[in-house]
Amino acid sequence: MADIRMTDFAEFTSLLSSEENLILNSTKDFVNKEVMPIIDDAFMDARFPDELVPKVGAMGFLGAPLDGYGCPGLNYVSYGLINMMLEAGDSALRSFNSVQSSLVMFPLHSFGSDAQKTKFLPKLATGEMIGCFGLTEPDHGSNPAGMVTYAKKTDKGFVLNGAKMWITNGSVADLAIVWAKCEGVSEGKNNICAFVVEKNTPGFSTRLMTQKHSLRASITSELIFEDCLIPHENLLPGSTVGLKAALMCLNSARLGIAWGAIGAAMACYQTALDYSLTRVQFHDKPIASHQLIQKDLVDMLTEITKAQFLTLQITRLKEQGKVKPEHISMVKRNNVAMALGISRTARAILGANGISSEYPVMRHMCNLESVITYEGTDNVHILTLGKYITGISAF
Ligand SMILES: Cc1cc2nc3c(=O)[nH]c(=O)nc-3n(C[C@H](O)[C@H](O)[C@H](O)COP(=O)(O)OP(=O)(O)OC[C@H]3O[C@@H](n4cnc5c(N)ncnc54)[C@H](O)[C@@H]3O)c2cc1C
Repeated sequence: MADIRMTDFAEFTSLLSSEENLILNSTKDFVNKEVMPIIDDAFMDARFPDELVPKVGAMGFLGAPLDGYGCPGLNYVSYGLINMMLEAGDSALRSFNSVQSSLVMFPLHSFGSDAQKTKFLPKLATGEMIGCFGLTEPDHGSNPAGMVTYAKKTDKGFVLNGAKMWITNGSVADLAIVWAKCEGVSEGKNNICAFVVEKNTPGFSTRLMTQKHSLRASITSELIFEDCLIPHENLLPGSTVGLKAALMCLNSARLGIAWGAIGAAMACYQTALDYSLTRVQFHDKPIASHQLIQKDLVDMLTEITKAQFLTLQITRLKEQGKVKPEHISMVKRNNVAMALGISRTARAILGANGISSEYPVMRHMCNLESVITYEGTDNVHILTLGKYITGISAF
């Protein structure tokens, strides 16, 4: 499988600092050396390549934009660039990083007690510990406010009952950040707050979800809570503002996903370009000489370039404290749909070879079918932006 490369038609990298360019290039080199040789087999075997976890920890990718407690303290553009190059390798690796960094380390960092931060963050930053984030339930996906998982406060601790579904890293996680309704504790509108549930807590079990055509190199699981007793000190104290806290985590993750999708799109575009220059059909000419193929390549490069600049600008707004959730909705929605479209076109350009695991395009295409659904479906981001523009909620 060919190495991943940076697509840089309009000198996007000239807008990055030297440190950001260094991070971009070192992540690319890491993916080419450590990920590309194993990722296709991992996908075909439905195996999470957990041997990469300490390596991504050592590279300083985990919790990249967080400060203190052993976290790397990079800026958000660097976090984005890391995600872009990880997903050029495979969405599973970027998903692992998004969950660990934005959905586990971020809530601990933002809403946790000092004791919780000290206990968990340094080990999550090195990859010694893995975390997962349980929000979605079997009957509540796009509308998490309807969740039925419930924590009852007792003298001994919180008794948790319910189930979460489609949870990335679930079965391999040392700890789960679990969102539940908890009357009398949460001040938020929907009584929702978050708890740290550690592996081996009695009443907590996980079930691996195996029937997947997408994100096959990622672990996806159910989390089951049956009278699961959680110590009082495992409530995240800052999470009692309700669903608002969960949405802050999702916003951080969604920005990383927007960057990641550009990486998947670059990998598909480069593969299609290379292939079209060498594949000969009709009149001894490469298929790249045909106008219809050239149009496809031009459309791909144009969309990738537009996404790079928009996403960089929105991430700079994030760094300046000016970003709105709707900005992030726009890039998450646009970039994932853009990448999915490019992966499908690339698949077609490769003809029958497009379905072969010798090339990465079908793998990216299948992965992106999950990426367009999780962290707010395409429709949910349309409704978020529609409400912002018109002032009318269509949810
Ligand atoms: C591989 C994978 C990993 C995941 N990892 C995690 C994780 O780590 N943690 C976690 O908590 N969750 C995770 N999820 C769950 C994911 O966030 C949900 O699947 C997502 O929120 C959508 O929920 P749903 O699947 O229940 O779809 P539904 O909410 O049932 O939606 C079904 C369809 O209806 C549409 N729809 C719903 N409401 C409206 C509306 N008002 N208007 C128009 N259309 C609407 C949706 O856009 C969608 O097309 C993961 C999912 C996948 C596939």
